[in-house]
Amino acid sequence: MHTSRRDFIAGLGALALMPYARLEADLIFYNGNIFTVSDKLPHAQAVAISNGRFFAVGSNDEILPLATASTRKIDLGWKTVLPGFNDAHSHPCISGVDHLRMVACDKDSIEAIQAALRERAQKTAPGQWVLGFLYDDGKTPHPINRHDLDAAVPGHPVLIHHRGGHTVFVNSLALKTAGVDDSTPDPTGGRFERDSSGHLTGFVGDAAVRVFDKFIEDNPTRDDYRKGAALISRMFAARGVTSACDADCDPEGVQGYQDARDAGELRFRVYAHIGARFVDRYIAAGIHTGFGDDWVRVGGVKQYADGSISERTAWLSQPYIGISNNYVGLQLSTREQLLETARKVHAAGWQLATHANGDLAIDRILDVYEQVQREMPRRDPRFRIEHCTLPTDSAIQRMRTLGVIPVPFSAYVYFHGDVMHFYGEQRTERMFPMRSYLDAGLRPPDSSDYTASPSDPMMWMQSQVTRTDMKGNVWGANQRITIEEAVRCGTANGAYASFEENTKGSIEPGKLADLVVLGQDPFKADASSLVKIPVERTMLGGKWSYES
Ligand SMILES: [Zn+2]
Repeated sequence: MHTSRRDFIAGLGALALMPYARLEADLIFYNGNIFTVSDKLPHAQAVAISNGRFFAVGSNDEILPLATASTRKIDLGWKTVLPGFNDAHSHPCISGVDHLRMVACDKDSIEAIQAALRERAQKTAPGQWVLGFLYDDGKTPHPINRHDLDAAVPGHPVLIHHRGGHTVFVNSLALKTAGVDDSTPDPTGGRFERDSSGHLTGFVGDAAVRVFDKFIEDNPTRDDYRKGAALISRMFAARGVTSACDADCDPEGVQGYQDARDAGELRFRVYAHIGARFVDRYIAAGIHTGFGDDWVRVGGVKQYADGSISERTAWLSQPYIGISNNYVGLQLSTREQLLETARKVHAAGWQLATHANGDLAIDRILDVYEQVQREMPRRDPRFRIEHCTLPTDSAIQRMRTLGVIPVPFSAYVYFHGDVMHFYGEQRTERMFPMRSYLDAGLRPPDSSDYTASPSDPMMWMQSQVTRTDMKGNVWGANQRITIEEAVRCGTANGAYASFEENTKGSIEPGKLADLVVLGQDPFKADASSLVKIPVERTMLGGKWSYES
């Protein structure tokens, strides 16, 4: 029986369609192994796209007849298609700017880092700083120290950022320039590490890092921010990421994303948390969470309760293992400071997004969230706890009651296995507790905290499904989740965490046409080699943002 296209569309009962006056498919994918992350139709073979959005999803037989003479048809050859991934906590713009001007120190030998620094120093004017980033002390045979750096670059001050973002490694000239010596006391919330004989090692933690700020000429231009945003969005797109939350954006970063969008250079969508130190400027302008468009949107307000996991500064109730003096990490804000900001921004219509890793930090911010919601009840505030690494069972129950969204590190077990022993096997059974979160009915998204770990959804999946690190050690097998759950966290839950579940996170009619085509089906692949699955193509709003 022959039916016209109009009759066919009218007859599509089960198939949901976009309420478009004119249904013209610009593009149809068919012969696909499409996992939609939609409960209405979890698996599909074909999808039609119009004006940058999905408008029909179904079988080949249902979708192919929607083609008109101008429709481009792409045979997927039964490749696996997933919704585009959402990196719900990362630092893209500033990392992009860093990629433009700093030495990448993500190398596993001290010699290789020294060589890269030496090369940069040769091109750097005397007295100017040589800066590095992406360094991870767990990946080199010993943490790089002042003497390693002096040997490579004696004539310039050197400062290398740990990829976690909270600590740095400096050479002797950097310490001298900043007036820091063996007798300098540690500032509140920070430390200058000393060896057993009391000499500075060159490792500088948290608040102490600020002593170097005023000596380093660090003023990227507006154009640098645009270029940085564009560069990093290309890097993320190559891994299948179509949306990212910038977890602590400064106004220059917001502008950089906008400039990159205006120039047609932005390859992902951004939800930008605003650092608490800038929020008054936005409040004065009448802006709160949700302002913006599908490309660049204002997110929550970011503040910090404690330090980091990868750099062992998270604030814990029980001491770290193998660090002296019953060290329990660092508090970065008092309860009163957190509460003051929370009251102000909650009243002004902002989502709260507080960095809290350790159990004590999580309890502290939950106290604050409960209090502001008691004082000023707001419907669906979607309080976020950024990282939320080590909650107690009772914290998870409180989160459930309050509808809090934990935003855990997704690749840490795999990528940072080398620091897990500081927490110990027992504690890692409660770290990044995805199984516990999902069982409690919470909706954790996925995140990299890039530069802290790679923005790589395949690595997130492997880490969460296997709970196994690069060397094969298992940490907290009780927290394993399924591939299907991991995909949902990395897509739909990311959209929910930014109030965008109606526009993205699944392949459904009406949603933005953001998707990824994989070289292998993760549901059929060996769980211990998910990280090797290639991303072949990434689509953003109906256009390829990456093609391998
Ligand atoms: Zn972060």
